[in-house]
Amino acid sequence: MRSKIVAGNWKMNKTLSESKSLIKDIKKSINGLPLKNTRVIVAPTFVNLQKVSKKLKDSAIEVAAQNMHQEESGAYTGEISASMIKAVYVNMVILGHSERREYFNETDALLSKKVDTALKNKMEIIFCFGEVLEDRKNGDHFKVVERQIKNALFHLNSEAWKNIILAYEPVWAIGTGETASPEQAQEMHAFIRGLVAERYLSDVAEEVSILYGGSVKPANAKEIFSKEDVDGGLIGGAALNADDFTALIKAI
Ligand code: PEP
Repeated sequence: MRSKIVAGNWKMNKTLSESKSLIKDIKKSINGLPLKNTRVIVAPTFVNLQKVSKKLKDSAIEVAAQNMHQEESGAYTGEISASMIKAVYVNMVILGHSERREYFNETDALLSKKVDTALKNKMEIIFCFGEVLEDRKNGDHFKVVERQIKNALFHLNSEAWKNIILAYEPVWAIGTGETASPEQAQEMHAFIRGLVAERYLSDVAEEVSILYGGSVKPANAKEIFSKEDVDGGLIGGAALNADDFTALIKAI
């Protein structure tokens, strides 16, 4: 059975003391919750990864990095490698976030390399993709999403997919307060699962968790998460507050 997942992407927010205080509050408020098949993940900024990972070592909360360089090591000033992330006991990375694509020019081809490097280093990947508003208005959203997934992930074998979590994040809904309707999310998630089923065996498609991301808040989470092919959320703004984040975990 595929996992339900609530993952918080803290982006460039939270100093070390703020990060410690946030995880303390989240730990306290999820204590005793029946998490059953639900995974809870937080992704702090690189500089706080080690401390957060240490603090969450024996807890139910997992830790992911927000990005990673595609090369194993070398002269790449300011960059972080897979082995550096793994050395601080973090085995998961978010790749392909729309902010990385938009502000740091990350292309499908580059992301495909990052995917390979992460998998080679035995890391799990939360792979993000999604259309911009213009694509949606032009009716190109399915085509765009299909291209993003195929270009970065369809060279993988079935076994590798055990380490892939998909995150559909329509760019027009990220940080804008505008959310895809539960029906729009379900429609796209079913399409994505269909694509994976066409390329691989249907059990690969059935096992892969597909998260929705884009202005998920306590007020709208339950309806979105109730959709058959929505296996949870990748959360930005609402992950920065322990009460909101806990409400999303409870909504799943
Ligand atoms: C995100 O950046 O992945 C995201 C979904 O942000 P927000 O929840 O703030 O829209």
